[in-house]
Amino acid sequence: MFKTTVAGSLPNPAWLAEPEKLWAAWQLAGDALIEGQQDAALAWIKTQEDAGIDIVSDGEQFRKHFVHGFLESIEGIDWQKITTMGIRDDRYDAQVPTVTSAVKRTGPVHSASAKFCRERTGHEMKMTLPGPMTICDTIANAHYDTRPDMAMAFADLLNDEAKELEALGVDVIQFDESAFNAFMSDVKEWGIEALHRATAGLKCKTAVHICYGYGIQENIDWKETLGEEWRQYEEFFPALNNSRIDQVSLECADSKVPLSMIGLLPDKEVLVGAIDVASLEVETPEKVAATLPAALEHVSTDQLVACTNCGMAPLPRRVAEGKLKALGAGAEILRKELA
Ligand code: ZN
Repeated sequence: MFKTTVAGSLPNPAWLAEPEKLWAAWQLAGDALIEGQQDAALAWIKTQEDAGIDIVSDGEQFRKHFVHGFLESIEGIDWQKITTMGIRDDRYDAQVPTVTSAVKRTGPVHSASAKFCRERTGHEMKMTLPGPMTICDTIANAHYDTRPDMAMAFADLLNDEAKELEALGVDVIQFDESAFNAFMSDVKEWGIEALHRATAGLKCKTAVHICYGYGIQENIDWKETLGEEWRQYEEFFPALNNSRIDQVSLECADSKVPLSMIGLLPDKEVLVGAIDVASLEVETPEKVAATLPAALEHVSTDQLVACTNCGMAPLPRRVAEGKLKALGAGAEILRKELA
């Protein structure tokens, strides 16, 4: 029967970073910060386990941002050279650092935190990494000839990182490609190729998460412009179905994505978002149980993984806890119905 998981991020406790904010500054420093991050990750692992989440995440408690958390330790990036760039196809302007020479990984980025969590949970465990295309859309390029060239360079670094995480016993490595929904033709031209490079040689499960973003105002405004049916997935899901990536994580709860899109992924495990991360209202388990069956018209129960639409970092902590409980309990209701 199907499993449950989360897209990735979960809120930082208020004592670790200012809540309900992306890129919030840490409240701690030095060893106290590392200890605080570990405590926060442990709390979230326990909450996920208690809620009935099968494949747990560290809640991204060890990083400030889902892209820059990885980039912070990469050489070749000038963090003082700030470029204002329209990102996600000009959906919003962001102040981003600039790549000024060949990028290089100086050592493991997430190994210590993955090892810490691996030793403390018997559940399957997921680690998230930013996808190459999304990295390239979140950083300025003053070195590589083209964006695909830069993406391939980052993909090689991600591959080294992913292999280390796999060796530590991580069960699922997920690449977050929120930029896929903004650059649909690039996905087919080089986005999937970059993902293949990032996942080359991995034997653990690989996943790609493609959503309509965190529930921040810019994304809410953008969604208003997308019309009655959001069909972005339609353009590249067939190519993704032919890819070597095992799992595709997509947004379904309270969104205008036609569930028929799932039918374009017959050969994949599909992480169906059954929790809306743009709403403060906590779903009832019954609502979660009612969202998922529509997906089962397109994939088998073995292919389905019940998930959240996206990360929950910007939500109040108690709301995110409630949503995790609803996800676990809703999945359980449906399992009983299907049994
Ligand atoms: Zn997302």
